[in-house]
Amino acid sequence: MSPESSPLLETRGLVREFDLPGGGLFGRRKTLTAVSDVSFAIGKGEILGLVGESGSGKTTIGRMVMRLLDPTRGQVIFDGLDLTRLSGRSLRRQRRRFQMVFQDPYASLNPRMRAGEIVGEPLVIHGLAPSARELREKVSRLLERVGLSSHDLERYPREFSGGGRQRIGIARAIACQPDLLVADEPIASLDLSIGAQIINLFSSLNKTERMSLLFISHDLSVVRYLSDRVVVLYRGRMVESGPTRTVLDTPVHPYTRLLAGTSSGTPSETQNGGDEPSGSLCPFLTRCPEALPVCRESMPPSLENSECGRQVLCHLVAGHSPWKSSASPSSSQGSP
Ligand code: SF4
Repeated sequence: MSPESSPLLETRGLVREFDLPGGGLFGRRKTLTAVSDVSFAIGKGEILGLVGESGSGKTTIGRMVMRLLDPTRGQVIFDGLDLTRLSGRSLRRQRRRFQMVFQDPYASLNPRMRAGEIVGEPLVIHGLAPSARELREKVSRLLERVGLSSHDLERYPREFSGGGRQRIGIARAIACQPDLLVADEPIASLDLSIGAQIINLFSSLNKTERMSLLFISHDLSVVRYLSDRVVVLYRGRMVESGPTRTVLDTPVHPYTRLLAGTSSGTPSETQNGGDEPSGSLCPFLTRCPEALPVCRESMPPSLENSECGRQVLCHLVAGHSPWKSSASPSSSQGSP
């Protein structure tokens, strides 16, 4: 798939901090930085995979993109509009253009509403079905699009399997024909064969409807199958990014190498021992099997290989051709 030139979505220098308990009235405020300086872009009709183990900041990024969570700093640019500056009606107007599919379909569906009501709700909210008949027809078509049928209109979420509930969630998400879907671990709670069907559904929506997709997952095999490009996160930082196959077949960052070498997506524990690295050093320092002396002295530079559109945050390739310092990750990271 070749994405068109102007990105549909860009994140620029996204940072999200959370307050920690303690600190008191006159004490210093304690914060946890869950996401640090994350910049990427998604082209129209493109699928970007966001991978990393639990706690890497994937879900926090997805929620900031959806404006379910405000960034501490940085911007989310959607089709040229800075979403972080929108609120109220102007944000609601844009919202139908980007929708989310959640990990736990049961928790995200109202158990007291029938499938038809759940899927039809966004159409009603955005005034896209003027009559009851039209609403029913549209909802029936949506259910069929995701592999259910009009016979399912009157059924409640509890009457569906996990896969069926996820299909309802997807039908609701695509009801208003969004340009972008943010899918947060959408098959994590499903068994293998149902998960494969849901992945094929995302692929089909991308191909036939040209929907862009931010696909959040810890499962590298799925990301390899589905996404055009990949961003690898570690402790809230982008450590490597680029075309999916290039990054996963020839990973440069030691963390990506560990991820790519395991099927579970969880690398082995501490290599170097010691405490957590400070915020001014490589976040992977205590687990890195290839750490250099310089890694204990300074934060690795953000490096770019413009020949193949890759970026990496690591001392290992600093000074090695074709890697060059990327002066402004936010402007170049992943731009199609
Ligand atoms: Fe390992 Fe150093 Fe690269 Fe960090 S910067 S991943 S510690 S080699």
